[in-house]
Amino acid sequence: MSYDAVVVGAGPNGLAAAIELQTHGCSTLLIDAANEVGGSARTEEATLPGFLHDVGSAIHPLGFGSPFFSSLPLDSFGLEWVHPDTPLAHPLIGSRTAFLEKSLEQTASALGEDGNAWTRRFAPFVASSKTFFEHTLRSPLSIPSSPILMARFAPLALKSTNRLANSFKSDQARALFAGNAAHAGTPLSHLLTGAVGAALIVAAHTVGWPFPKGGAGNLTLALARYFESLGGTIQTGSRVTSLADLPSARATLMAITHGQVAALTDTGLSESFLRRLKRWRYGPGAFKVDWALDGPIPWEDPEVARAATVHVGGTLEEVAASELQPWSGRLSERPFVLLAQHTLFDRSRAPEGKHTAWGYCHVPNGWEGDATPVIEAQIERFAPGFQERILSRSSWGPKRLERWDGNLVGGDVNGGALTISQTLGPARWSLPGYRTPKAGLYLCSASTPPGGGVHGMAGFHGARCALRHTFGIRLS
Ligand SMILES: Cc1cc2nc3c(=O)[nH]c(=O)nc-3n(C[C@H](O)[C@H](O)[C@H](O)COP(=O)(O)OP(=O)(O)OC[C@H]3O[C@@H](n4cnc5c(N)ncnc54)[C@H](O)[C@@H]3O)c2cc1C
Repeated sequence: MSYDAVVVGAGPNGLAAAIELQTHGCSTLLIDAANEVGGSARTEEATLPGFLHDVGSAIHPLGFGSPFFSSLPLDSFGLEWVHPDTPLAHPLIGSRTAFLEKSLEQTASALGEDGNAWTRRFAPFVASSKTFFEHTLRSPLSIPSSPILMARFAPLALKSTNRLANSFKSDQARALFAGNAAHAGTPLSHLLTGAVGAALIVAAHTVGWPFPKGGAGNLTLALARYFESLGGTIQTGSRVTSLADLPSARATLMAITHGQVAALTDTGLSESFLRRLKRWRYGPGAFKVDWALDGPIPWEDPEVARAATVHVGGTLEEVAASELQPWSGRLSERPFVLLAQHTLFDRSRAPEGKHTAWGYCHVPNGWEGDATPVIEAQIERFAPGFQERILSRSSWGPKRLERWDGNLVGGDVNGGALTISQTLGPARWSLPGYRTPKAGLYLCSASTPPGGGVHGMAGFHGARCALRHTFGIRLS
């Protein structure tokens, strides 16, 4: 059977690419190595029967705010969003918990002396949230729809988190900002981490931090069902090792990361381009744990249960110290843990009266140790009695994560390190966007702009590039 297009990798980006191609009349085959679609947005009974765990992504401001996903009729294909009013809690030992509320005003008011500074920093972007999302998730070659707004954002991108967070006076505001920036997985002294923190905060104040009812897998399953309803074909359980093995097609889109593309045979790519792909650097790995619990997490501050996401790591200084360690090849003794407690808001994920928890911290890329004890000890500091509630756990170190989804190279969840060089500098410009020097071969994984996260926009932009350049379709 021949197709107009073949897409390799059925994660959020591959699914988005396949849908966009099929929508424009190109018969498309979507291939994945795993036995089911979804990539790192999949849900499994990873511990005990009846406990549903998001093995990869858990909280989806980018998925909900994605200009592409939100244009699709996914609710007709089983997707239902759960919207916690309080996106995030950040508990502090011996001090008030910081909360990131959906309402900017409510957040600012609880931050007291830092309230005005919080409003001044984020209100302009919240007021133009649609443009903000379109810009931050855009293709690198498009013209900003609001240069003024982006000029206001540039200083946030070009300052380190330590510097930006220290402009606040309270431990609460500093920790809130640092925890968001720490999603970048780079030391908080690095430039750009502030931009990641700011983008997540603006998302919280605009679309919130929702998640799919029943599990992240329901988002990617809805995408797959929609793709099939358009006439697209999915083939799972097929690991691609050589481009020569793929069915012939006018366009081939690789929704696998740069290093993985470089490892394939028969790509037809020049040696110099392959060298550039091989030089792509991956960031720290994730060490992930899923827990089945006998009850909700017993937070010392019971108000922490208002939030679906909890940043467990203490003050700005503690978070910064933890995020530095993986870059020196070490595990932090008190790691910054990103934690989600879905079942407080979504009872479909665990048996009656029982709960789940999801958490990970950053470790050196490819690290082979067991971070479970330090992760659990860190949570216990803020929730005494947590460990007594554990019925079962499933730990996912970098190597296990990579076996589960080949794109998680060394456990990196972002498809590459978020360094200046790879985001704005020479490494980015030597691999501009989605086209490769070989006609008909495109790149569209999280290694391509706009980078990691479940938003599908790299797949969408990659597909539009193929539609223009291979199929000659004029797009608006
Ligand atoms: C532990 C963890 C927590 C995360 N938390 C969040 C979060 O809360 N919110 C958020 O937005 N994002 C989160 N992410 C990041 C997010 O999941 C990824 O950035 C996103 O899934 C990337 O999408 P993708 O389509 O590029 O790749 P992936 O989702 O990784 O999909 C790649 C697919 O390609 C397939 N594949 C790989 N190699 C081959 C091959 N050779 N042949 C055929 N198929 C192949 C894989 O099987 C996989 O299905 C998290 C990720 C992890 C692992």
